[in-house]
This record gives sequence, C-alpha cells and structure tokens, in this order.
Amino acid sequence: MIPIIMYHHINSDDLPLSNSDSMMDAHLRLISERYVTVFPGEEFQSSSICLTFDDAYYDFYHYVFPLLRKYNLKALLAVPCAYILDDTDIAPEKRLSLKHHEIYENYQTFAPFCTYVELREMVQSGHLAIASHSMNHINLSDEGVDLEREIFGSKVILEEKLGYGVESFVLPYGKYNDAAVELAHEHYGYVFRIGNALNPSWDGIGGLVYRIKGDALKSPDELFKPLKQLGFWFKTVVKMIKS
Ligand SMILES: [Zn+2]
Repeated sequence: MIPIIMYHHINSDDLPLSNSDSMMDAHLRLISERYVTVFPGEEFQSSSICLTFDDAYYDFYHYVFPLLRKYNLKALLAVPCAYILDDTDIAPEKRLSLKHHEIYENYQTFAPFCTYVELREMVQSGHLAIASHSMNHINLSDEGVDLEREIFGSKVILEEKLGYGVESFVLPYGKYNDAAVELAHEHYGYVFRIGNALNPSWDGIGGLVYRIKGDALKSPDELFKPLKQLGFWFKTVVKMIKS
C-alpha cells in the first residue's frame, strides 16, 4: 500500500487547509526519518510515501521547497495553469500577504502563486514533480465546463512552459463526474482525488488514486499514530470492496 498525503497552504488564514511553517518543518523531518518519498509511478515499498501539495501557492516555493532540499524529499505539486505567471519581481512579503479568499482574483497584481520560473527551478532540482490541477481550478462536475480545455489544455500548456512530461492530474475539490475521469485517464497515467484511503498500486482504487488529508496537523506525527492508520486501512478495505 502506498500512502499519499495531500497538503495545501503554509501559514494561511485558511486554517483547515494550512499548516504553520514550523509544523511543516517538524512533520517533514519526521517523514525523512521514517519514510522514503516517491514520485507517482515509482516503485514503492512498505517504507514509501508520496507527498502532494495542491494549488501551487507561492507559500510552497517560499516555505516547502527549502524543506524538501533540507530533508532530501520528493513531492508532487498540483498546478492550476490559469493563475501561473511567467515571472515576477513582486516582493515575497507582498506575495504572501493576501488572505486566502483574495488570492484568485488578485493573482496578477500580487503573484500569490508559483511562477513558471520557480516551477522550472524546482523541477530541475529533482525534488519536484508537476501535476495538472486543471486550467481554472473549477468544479469539473459543474454544468457547461469545457473538460477538454480544463483537463487536456492544461497539460499542453504545462508541458510547453516547463519542457516536462506531465503524467498526473489532480481533480480540483475532489469533484468529478464520469466524463471528467474518462478524459483524465485518456491523457494522464495517474488521477488523484481525496478520500483518506491508501492505494494498493498507482492505479489507486477503481482507477482513482486516494490521498490522506495532511492540512491542519495537530502534531508532526498525527497521521502516523496507530488509530489514524487503522482508520485509513479501514477506509481502504471498504473502498476496495465497493469498487
Ligand atoms: Zn485545489
């Protein structure tokens, strides 16, 4: 089984979707002591774990990327293309200053997302793999959504900008319908959702790769406590029986 953890922000006011930088430091240090991080598709063993960060906020580049280097870890970053600028000279303090609800509408004036320059640097470091997180970060099961553009168009842009093959797709909000999943499987090797279960292989369960919520940690080892682990195993078995 491969456990895959999902995180979002660092030091954000959006508390359910954030960890403090000190909590993330302690958590990643613990992971580096107990586990070996893998990218999607890599061979895994009982000590393997996969770390995924959604939305490519600038706080990832600012706080998490230095930790990946410090502890020699790998992570997958899910990027919503439409909000990614090529480069910026806006100061880090300003880029980190927005409240969560202000981020999307101010992406051009505050550059609160990683830039393509930063994404390329992180990919070239060997510590980061990139996933598409759709074009516009919208609910793909909503009516009238241009699935081709959101799912395939985003892959084309990311690959062109980064010079890098994008094999993973992370469903925004974990929301989807059959058409979205079918199209995602046409263009990507790995399609991720949420759901707090483990995965017997990189095909996930019923074709979708499950992730464990890693935001709002109460302690660095919260996810690895026996009772939590038992809960993940229980959900995994139930989902495997249902699929
Ligand atoms: Zn997201």
